Amino acid sequence: MFQHCLGVKDTAVRLAQVYGLDPVKAELTGIIHDYGKLFSHNELIQVARSQGMDDPLIYREPALLHAPVGAVLLKDDLGVEDPEILEAVRVHTTGSPEMSLLARIIYLADYIEPGRDCPGVETIRQLAYLDLQGALLAAVDFTIHYIMERKRLLHPSSIAFRNSLVLSMRNYGQELSGYETK
Ligand code: FE
Repeated sequence: MFQHCLGVKDTAVRLAQVYGLDPVKAELTGIIHDYGKLFSHNELIQVARSQGMDDPLIYREPALLHAPVGAVLLKDDLGVEDPEILEAVRVHTTGSPEMSLLARIIYLADYIEPGRDCPGVETIRQLAYLDLQGALLAAVDFTIHYIMERKRLLHPSSIAFRNSLVLSMRNYGQELSGYETK
């Protein structure tokens, strides 16, 4: 896991430099984004309950829990106060329609860091430095496919995130060809 966090850190710094974000902030967020994974599932559930988190899906899909609870623990244990960093950690697994540039960069870096071998990762690695929204859409599409193939729970935030990306690309005149209403 440590190697993964270093990979996310390096990739997030490169993306930050390309897209005009403070690389130091990207570096720090990359290193700490999986802080929640240092805790057991039971510990994460306890923290989620004590915080009154009422999203039923995070209790039923272990992979979803470490991100929102990790953000809480970073604040409580390590004193991280920056709301943008905490948001980026909170949404790094599901995505969300209103993500900051930092959160987008962490989401993408998490998908394409050098240790990753996810479907389509080579294509997305190349796209990432040219077209942030396009690379994010490809990453969320592959993630949704992956979740569906494994009969896992798909979080509504991932669908909302995907829809927001499609709409933002249409707004920039990049409507997907071949899509016509009949
Ligand atoms: Fe994670």
